[in-house]
Amino acid sequence: MLNEEYSNKTEQRKTSKKSNYEKKKKTKKCNCRSGCSKRSCYCYKSNRGCDSSCGCGSSCQNLFNHLDYFFGEDSKCTAHPCFVDWLVKNVKTADELQKIDREALQQKIMNCGRFSELSDDEDFQKWLKKWNRIKANEKLDHIQKFFRMLLSDDATMHYYSFCNDDLAEDDCDWHCTICKTCRDWREWHCDGCNKCSYGTTLPCQRCERKNQMFSFWRYIAVLYAQYFGISILSLEILDDILNIFIFTKLRTSRETLSTFYLLGAVIGNFLQLILAMTTRIVTVCFNHGLTRFSLAWCKLTSIY
Ligand SMILES: [Zn+2]
Ligand SMILES: [Zn+2]
Ligand SMILES: [Zn+2]
Ligand SMILES: [Zn+2]
Ligand SMILES: [Zn+2]
Repeated sequence: MLNEEYSNKTEQRKTSKKSNYEKKKKTKKCNCRSGCSKRSCYCYKSNRGCDSSCGCGSSCQNLFNHLDYFFGEDSKCTAHPCFVDWLVKNVKTADELQKIDREALQQKIMNCGRFSELSDDEDFQKWLKKWNRIKANEKLDHIQKFFRMLLSDDATMHYYSFCNDDLAEDDCDWHCTICKTCRDWREWHCDGCNKCSYGTTLPCQRCERKNQMFSFWRYIAVLYAQYFGISILSLEILDDILNIFIFTKLRTSRETLSTFYLLGAVIGNFLQLILAMTTRIVTVCFNHGLTRFSLAWCKLTSIY
């Protein structure tokens, strides 16, 4: 049961990742004039390379146009999100990218702790066999093949996690592009609190706690409105009615000029009480308000 829910979530995550990517792919291009060397380049920010419809031309410095340095000239590989974030963090321009020592990077990956796990991988075994008796002129091609296996978004079951400096399995780990860290497969990115959360429920535990706090304060507000709001309202209405009675019936007050203004103020106050307080008490106590149904009423409430 739990597993089912987990796998659903994983699927959801993957499809949302994919659809986000596709959305980005279809949307606008950058308008850079200076060869996309700035981080404000829209294509760069969307983690993809420029193409002919961008304004940048052949001098484009967008890193993602130069990934063939790792993956080889004729490969159409896209970089794994973890590799993308590592590149963005460590490299500023395409020239800097070309300074990364590919052989050193490959050695670093081959020396990581979980590297021996690849011994079950058939493709990798083939790769290793050739690597052990490689000729100097084939070396670069073969290293690029290695990168295609471990640093690109598709291909094998494994990828190299720069966050953990170790090998990671595609089924067990994933890289969150928002938090920019590699995560366990049981975690997922919660849109509610915009953080990766661990758990089986939707919304996540953190959001749920927040909701609980919110309902606690709501409960206090309802109690307050019921016990104080209603009694204060009835007392004030009584007070206003008495005031109106005094101002209109008593002869002494009828003869004074200022009575007219006072009467106006009391009537205004009375109307405001009826409109504002009653509707608010009804809204808070019974969770039912006109503001939900009428837009005009909702706008009116901001006036009084
Ligand atoms: Zn650009
Ligand atoms: Zn562009
Ligand atoms: Zn460009
Ligand atoms: Zn990562
Ligand atoms: Zn996240």
